[in-house]
Amino acid sequence: MRVGIIGGGQLGRMLGESAQLLEIESLFLEPSPSPSAAVAGEVIVAPYDDRVALDRLARECEVVTYELENVPVDTVRYLAGKVAIHPGPGALETAQDRLAEKRFFRSRGVSIAAFVPVDSVEQLEAGIELLGLPAILKTRRMGYDGRGQLYLADPEQASGAFAALGSVPCVLEEVVPFDRELSILAVRDRDGATATWPLVENRHAGGILRWSVAPAPEVDRELQLLADALATRLLEALQYVGVLAVELFQVGDRLLANEIAPRVHNSGHWSIEGALTSQFENHLRAILGLPLGQTSVLLPCGCVNLLGRLPDLSELLAVPGARLHLYGKEPRPGRKLGHVTVLGADHGQIRARIDAVRALTAG
Ligand code: AMP
Repeated sequence: MRVGIIGGGQLGRMLGESAQLLEIESLFLEPSPSPSAAVAGEVIVAPYDDRVALDRLARECEVVTYELENVPVDTVRYLAGKVAIHPGPGALETAQDRLAEKRFFRSRGVSIAAFVPVDSVEQLEAGIELLGLPAILKTRRMGYDGRGQLYLADPEQASGAFAALGSVPCVLEEVVPFDRELSILAVRDRDGATATWPLVENRHAGGILRWSVAPAPEVDRELQLLADALATRLLEALQYVGVLAVELFQVGDRLLANEIAPRVHNSGHWSIEGALTSQFENHLRAILGLPLGQTSVLLPCGCVNLLGRLPDLSELLAVPGARLHLYGKEPRPGRKLGHVTVLGADHGQIRARIDAVRALTAG
């Protein structure tokens, strides 16, 4: 059995490693030579829209998936005519455009931050009038890890901010006074069966995920059920197959959706060690038509991203309960080079271990 994976980053690598345990081969499509995923399968080095490469994926793989959301929708559409590809083009198209995504959330009764579409400086000024400041201006497309967005505190910033983002279509959002950021990962298989993992608490800085705790502390049954229902509703609306991540803001007992990622997600890395079935394995099971695995938690976990430069490995490995994952990437400022999962008996121990890892890293 062979699975085609578009994208050769660390998510592809971990999908491929998970596939190896099931004796499933991975064939990656990735434009950059020697990508992170190369240790986990063969790589076709070609652009994501290279028809010859796509034809090969379709010919040689039972099913194709992707590990990044900036795959051209046309690529997924093209493949959909030739081979099973999950998630399908509809989910990808929704996730690639913040405006489409917000309209989708609303159409499904999911609460979100107040927003206005912005296609010009005039619309931005009108949006600032309407929403007030501070607010966040985000490009509709190609924004991730905090790129393509600006925090606006002063109306004078309007024209400069719009230009700084490239004068492209944007949305202006109110700043949500959230208590914390959470995410929920959910999976749906080809027969429509679904499962969710427990809510995860995520800490960002500069728009980049720094560390997570799973399950999130102090989540009562109602909040988890609310998140489960929200994620399941989105999976069903999209007729989705595979793992979907939903990023959330918690405000009191409410959850506001921020965005979806139609793929495995950084906030689900803990599930490799911490859950009975990881996000990577369940994504593969779902797209291959295999039964989903149970998502129960084995031990509470923390997950710390290693960004920009690697700390001293022997110090890192000396942290109790630490499991190290390196992605084989060259250090570069802000780049995700690996992550450390720390396991522990309870949230107090997890927090202490997260802090011990963070003390050794820039994260
Ligand atoms: P995003 O690219 O939309 O995931 O945003 C990256 C990060 O910026 C989020 O994880 C939040 O920490 C912060 N952020 C984004 N949108 C908002 C908002 N409307 N209110 C408050 N914080 C936000």
